[in-house]
Amino acid sequence: KIQAAAAADPDRVVFSFEFFPPKTEDGVDNLFERMDRMVAHNPSFCDITWGAGGSTADLTLEIANKMQNVICVESMMHLTCTNMPVERIDHALETIKANGLQNVLALRGDPPHGQDKFVQVEGGFACARDLVKHIRAKHGDYFGITVAGYPEAHPDMIGNDGVATPESYQNDLAYLKSKVDAGADLIITQLFYDTDIFLKFVNDCRQIGITCPIVPGIMPINNYRGFIRMTGFCKTKIPAEITAALEPIKDNEEAVKSYGIHLGTEMCRKILAHGIKTLHLYTLNMEKSALGILMSLGLIEESKISRSLPWRRPTNVFRV
Ligand code: FAD
Repeated sequence: KIQAAAAADPDRVVFSFEFFPPKTEDGVDNLFERMDRMVAHNPSFCDITWGAGGSTADLTLEIANKMQNVICVESMMHLTCTNMPVERIDHALETIKANGLQNVLALRGDPPHGQDKFVQVEGGFACARDLVKHIRAKHGDYFGITVAGYPEAHPDMIGNDGVATPESYQNDLAYLKSKVDAGADLIITQLFYDTDIFLKFVNDCRQIGITCPIVPGIMPINNYRGFIRMTGFCKTKIPAEITAALEPIKDNEEAVKSYGIHLGTEMCRKILAHGIKTLHLYTLNMEKSALGILMSLGLIEESKISRSLPWRRPTNVFRV
């Protein structure tokens, strides 16, 4: 299980990669090739997302199986409650168990397409905590269970001014603790770009008695429009210096990518300097930025990066 691997050597920095199920068959083939190359760098685990509303259920199950048994990396499958009566949840869990997977990221999921609010499906679960409880009740300690944490609070808790009230933030934290108390072993955070907010969140979690590992979710900036869309959707704070750095280069994709590697590296450096030894990279199925950050941090060797990659050492132009 993921937790056992992390605990084996608490002083070593470990990293992991998230992927999502591609839309086409060619995309799936490409993803496996990419995973194969990325796994050569020894991530502690890789995970595969569960498409919104269960839209990729079969493909997610298939990819999870192949990651574990063909790519041969410790794997984790995401599972959400949206549109999922308990029979479908159980089928998904039994399938990955039969395939030897031992890690699940238990999520509520977003509201079904076209709806504003999450609606519990008949015979399903209302929130991630109830899914965690169910997995523990049905499978005991077989699965390592991860849950999502929100350094800026869940977007539902964030008002039009872009921040959660102190009360909403505390309620969100208390609810996160209840997910851990229900049986979760690990927290992976939502993306963030203000490292101080993440560090405060970890501290606040510790203050209320959350003791499990809290792994920062790092999303490298790959292109400007994607960054604006994602931070808008997640209601993520964009620090003024990031806006200022991106504004003049936003139409230059290569420059944005280089900046993304520089920024991701600096964020990770600061996090590691605070004694946190785990990094989770949202790859968006791309390798260049995630590997660029790890290389800049000295966590992987350049010689192991495939020659076929359109690879360039990150430039120093953004260093301050
Ligand atoms: P929950 O933890 O159940 O709750 C979300 C929020 O609602 C809480 O933070 C809290 O503010 C409030 N809340 C819920 N229940 C209660 C309660 N009983 N009491 C008080 N407050 C409550 N989505 C996908 O569709 N597929 C994926 O693969 C996927 N992977 C993700 C991975 C990570 C690391 C993260 C951070 C998010 C991911 N998401 C994914 C998005 C996620 O599904 C959404 O953010 C969703 O809106 C909430 O899911 P959750 O598990 O955090 O929900």
